[in-house]
Amino acid sequence: MPDARPLPQGSTIGILGGGQLGRMLALAAARLGMKTHIYCPDPDSPAFDVTPLRTIAAYDDEAALALFAARVDVITYEFENVPAKTAAFLQNLKPLRPGANALAVAQDRLAEKAFLSINRVPVAPFAAISDLDRLEAELEEIGTPAVLKTTRLGYDGKGQRIVRNMEDAALAWELLSPKPLVLEAFIAFEKEISVVVARNAAGEVAAFDPAENVHRDHILKTSTVPAEISARTAKAASGIAEAIATALDYVGVLGVEFFVLPGGKLLVNEIAPRVHNSGHWTEAVAITDQFEQHIRAVLNWPLGDPSRMADVVMENLIGDEIAAIPERLGPNLQPHAYGKAESRRGRKMGHINRVALKKRPK
Ligand code: AMP
Repeated sequence: MPDARPLPQGSTIGILGGGQLGRMLALAAARLGMKTHIYCPDPDSPAFDVTPLRTIAAYDDEAALALFAARVDVITYEFENVPAKTAAFLQNLKPLRPGANALAVAQDRLAEKAFLSINRVPVAPFAAISDLDRLEAELEEIGTPAVLKTTRLGYDGKGQRIVRNMEDAALAWELLSPKPLVLEAFIAFEKEISVVVARNAAGEVAAFDPAENVHRDHILKTSTVPAEISARTAKAASGIAEAIATALDYVGVLGVEFFVLPGGKLLVNEIAPRVHNSGHWTEAVAITDQFEQHIRAVLNWPLGDPSRMADVVMENLIGDEIAAIPERLGPNLQPHAYGKAESRRGRKMGHINRVALKKRPK
């Protein structure tokens, strides 16, 4: 049985990873009277700006990890590529929420697809690829176009390639092997949506409304809520996200990305065991935002109300677009800058939540 006692005021939450998500988690924790200790190898981490407790060390530095664990009451993370060995080491010392099993499932596309399939969650047809012969055989089976992906460490479109025809296969294999690979059917989706869901150790679940996501250059550009989908599809997406969280015995916030097919059928593309970029809108218009919700779950507190109070569009500010703050601000715009020193092309620097103000009845 997991220890389900609520942690008291003044507890210290250890966070692995010092990016913007860690920063926003630390801010939310402070609002609840908690301290946070950020562990990150990069001395320039944006999360270090908002909490004095920090460890700058590699994720495989067991002496540093042990010291970190000794100084915190509970440990969470802001990225899914925490090495399995690190998670196992820490989990022996302090509660790790979400647990190492959620990481293991989410950081390997094949394990993720297998887990989802076993739990009867619909995903695109897929196959493990070990060599070029197998790739060619599976392309016959799955059909073209298809998408060949590395099973691990792919994000924002990196580590994947569309295979348009049989002739493309050898080149795709050459570019991505010898890493373990997975082939997926190319899905002619109508749109992409995501559901951010929270679960605590008591088994409470709370899903935020689905967001409709638009990518630019493989990077999330906007999340619009409500998504333009039927009430039935929205309910189905929330139900699937909640079922995944429960099947993983998950504690914390989980992001679930979906393809919506013409007609409204849903396929899960991937899951992220952490707060999610497509949930940043919750800071502006949800009664409880995703960061507070994650901290509540990690502390064994009751979850907050995820209800949405207004329509909203979240826009990521990428690279030099960060200069839009403060120029582009209006009364209905909530800006968020991550405090990154250097704005590089393709780097997420901040976001703006544009709230659709409701007209007051006369
Ligand atoms: P991923 O890294 O798997 O989230 O993929 C990044 C983006 O590539 C997704 O958000 C989709 O826009 C696109 N994509 C990934 N897999 C597929 C697929 N099987 N069919 C069509 N588009 C895909």
